[in-house]
Amino acid sequence: MESDMQFEYAAAPESRTIVNIKSKYGHFIDGKFVAGSKHFPTINPATEEILSHVAKAGKTEVDAAVKAARKAYLSTWSKMSGKERGKYLYRIARILQERSREFAVLESLDNGKPIREARDTDIPLAAAHFFYHAGWADKLDYAGLGIAPKPLGVAGQIIPWNFPLLMLAWKVAPALAAGNTVVLKPAESTPLTALLFAQVCQQAELPAGVVNILTGDGSTGALIVNHPGVDKIAFTGSTEVGKIIARTVAPTNKSVTLELGGKAANIVFDDAPIDEAVEGIVNGIFFNQGHVCCAGSRLLLQENIADEVLHKLKNRMEKIRVGDPLDKNTDVGAINSKEQISKIIDLAAAGDQEGAERWSPNCKLPTKGFWFAPTIFTGVTQAHRIAREEIFGPVLSVLTFRTPAEAIEKANNTPFGLSAGIWSEKGSRTLWASQQLRAGVIWANTFNKFDPASPFGGYKESGWGREGGRHGLSAYLKGANNE
Ligand code: NDP
Repeated sequence: MESDMQFEYAAAPESRTIVNIKSKYGHFIDGKFVAGSKHFPTINPATEEILSHVAKAGKTEVDAAVKAARKAYLSTWSKMSGKERGKYLYRIARILQERSREFAVLESLDNGKPIREARDTDIPLAAAHFFYHAGWADKLDYAGLGIAPKPLGVAGQIIPWNFPLLMLAWKVAPALAAGNTVVLKPAESTPLTALLFAQVCQQAELPAGVVNILTGDGSTGALIVNHPGVDKIAFTGSTEVGKIIARTVAPTNKSVTLELGGKAANIVFDDAPIDEAVEGIVNGIFFNQGHVCCAGSRLLLQENIADEVLHKLKNRMEKIRVGDPLDKNTDVGAINSKEQISKIIDLAAAGDQEGAERWSPNCKLPTKGFWFAPTIFTGVTQAHRIAREEIFGPVLSVLTFRTPAEAIEKANNTPFGLSAGIWSEKGSRTLWASQQLRAGVIWANTFNKFDPASPFGGYKESGWGREGGRHGLSAYLKGANNE
């Protein structure tokens, strides 16, 4: 039943006193923080306040980090028993839990995401990845990847800004469990939780050089990718940079996994539980401001229920709370950067120009910082840019279909293939549709659910390889996929 009752919310800000942000940071190399030469600011995108200055790693620092990782790999980490490695991973997982509030507040400040999501999704899932992979460390012989599978060596890991600590956990936990050492670069706009994670490595007494963290920009990432001392590249980010990396490593012996963009179809059939579907649509595209590679950014509605779903969706969106990310009531926070908001504004303008109809709820946006009202475009056709390109923001493109076959054809009509959603009461229809969809992850009657045991990855321009589960582990071991 629909209700128009709306509560007034008093502000419920989370205190930021728990975080201790230094004015300047260096790099984490060989178990120690070392001073950087050049620095750049990292800001709070909700207020544009400068939080700190972090160092930009160049060739010297990349060389030092790769050397430290190689030394740790040869002298300690690859020699240590899986059981011992597992103990370190368990220790890291427990420290992440113990310091979860500190991580959640810092993530929210540096990224702009609502504290509720950092607290309830990012940080618990990051800890879960370490727990899960700690369990694998002494059981690699039973992973179905051959007897006594061997690590690859030094992994260069480059991560984006949308889930900073969680993407670090997706990369670092399997690498370490399998016996590799790492050189990781967080995104230029969200380096702070990776630097706090470096402190966790020290607290866990992880042997020096097993994890090295270099801050910097794309040029630092390129230096890591090109470094001859790196055996494997794990990258999450844009398809554009993914293609550059693929070209760079093609003539080398490096193994590579690429988690790239997406333009997922969230398909609602006419037998779907509509109220649940509406919640799933909202979660699918407005979670984390739509900065989600697997976001349900294309809503495909069966024509005979389209009006009803859109009416309920807009009604639901009128109640969404956009604003201060540190307020525990907030549903949608700030856009991560100036560059990202201009990309969203441009693509939304293309939606207007190409004839789609724009709608946003009545919400007051803060005056400082980077903000974009949650937006729904109806009347979208498959040729529109907003139906084809990854917007990576809180913008939903709505298309309709008449028959299940048409839904599949439209869903698959994309260069991407990362995820999809199916809303239907019929198990047979769900199974049929999931077999037709070219997407690595398919959710049924839910969306954006993650678990470390479940492999995640895409087809086509969404990338190569899988992260999570046994499949993700195999990407860090010499075996069927890598030798
Ligand atoms: P990028 O792909 O540029 O960034 C991802 C990571 O790669 C960052 O750490 C970045 O560093 C680094 N990087 C940039 N250039 C290179 C390079 N040549 N070699 C190695 N590493 C590099 O994404 P953006 O942050 O620029 O975002 C642009 C668009 O990409 C977004 O609008 C969105 O559409 C998409 N995107 C998709 C993501 C996904 O999960 N699928 C995640 C992030 C973005 P730095 O941050 O310092 O530039």
